[in-house]
Amino acid sequence: MIALEAGATDIKGCVLGPDGVPRNGERWFTRPERGPDAVLETVLTCAATLAERCRPTAAGVILPGTVDETSGRAVHAPALGWRDLPVRDWMAEHLDLPVAVGHDGRTAGLAEARAGAGQDCEDFLFVSVGDGIGSAVVLTGRVPTTRYGAEELGHTEVRPGGDPCHCGGRGCLETVASSAAVTRRYARATGWRGIGAREVYHRADAGDPAALAICEEAMVALADVLAAAIGRYAPERLVVGGELAEAGASLLAPLREALVSRLGSPAVPGLRLARFGETAGRVGAALLARDLQDVRTGR
Ligand SMILES: [Zn+2]
Repeated sequence: MIALEAGATDIKGCVLGPDGVPRNGERWFTRPERGPDAVLETVLTCAATLAERCRPTAAGVILPGTVDETSGRAVHAPALGWRDLPVRDWMAEHLDLPVAVGHDGRTAGLAEARAGAGQDCEDFLFVSVGDGIGSAVVLTGRVPTTRYGAEELGHTEVRPGGDPCHCGGRGCLETVASSAAVTRRYARATGWRGIGAREVYHRADAGDPAALAICEEAMVALADVLAAAIGRYAPERLVVGGELAEAGASLLAPLREALVSRLGSPAVPGLRLARFGETAGRVGAALLARDLQDVRTGR
């Protein structure tokens, strides 16, 4: 299988064998300012490059924004500059392979539900904090679906009139708590450019006051949005993934504290780091591709 994940900053791809372990990881820059056609061309080229290496039997691709998984269309993906593109059909034609298309947060949640930190749990809320903030609700151990409407927690307004967001809104959770926002805010506060979110998290751990203030504000905003989602879905567990999870467990304690102060201790579900970290989306994309292949071969 080949699996691709297209985001605002980069397009990540890998090959997954039957053991489900990602290999031959590659990364290309998205540069959405080039326009939607150029981004699509890059995605197609990346997929073809990976396909040449492993003779895949199917491919999976995950996208941010609003995705129609049934028809395989990107309905609206502002991070890529796409609106209403038949991604599945174009990729399938380009690669001459069956292709499955999924939403990034939901597909990462699927990977955690089937083989990760949600495997032994019936109901969980998954949130992935990386370049964007993706989320998924898994109820009664089923595959997460669009029905529950929790995929776009990242675009919940947390700072009215705040920084502009690529979705067209202002002050969305993504503008405060995503890796891109943490990087940008640290540069703005200190004048030091090029310090990635992971390094900012480490600096906060080490007591850097600017990093601490930015991380604390990110955790507070995240807790506000998650508290509302927990109140709505009452999940048994909260699984935290993406770059934030890769930064380590030290960020879970302040997040838990912030949730307890909003909901009270008994209402706060168990917090768990995602098993697949920032590769969850690609593992999930490969699962979608495998499901598609199983359906086709009648397995
Ligand atoms: Zn937004």
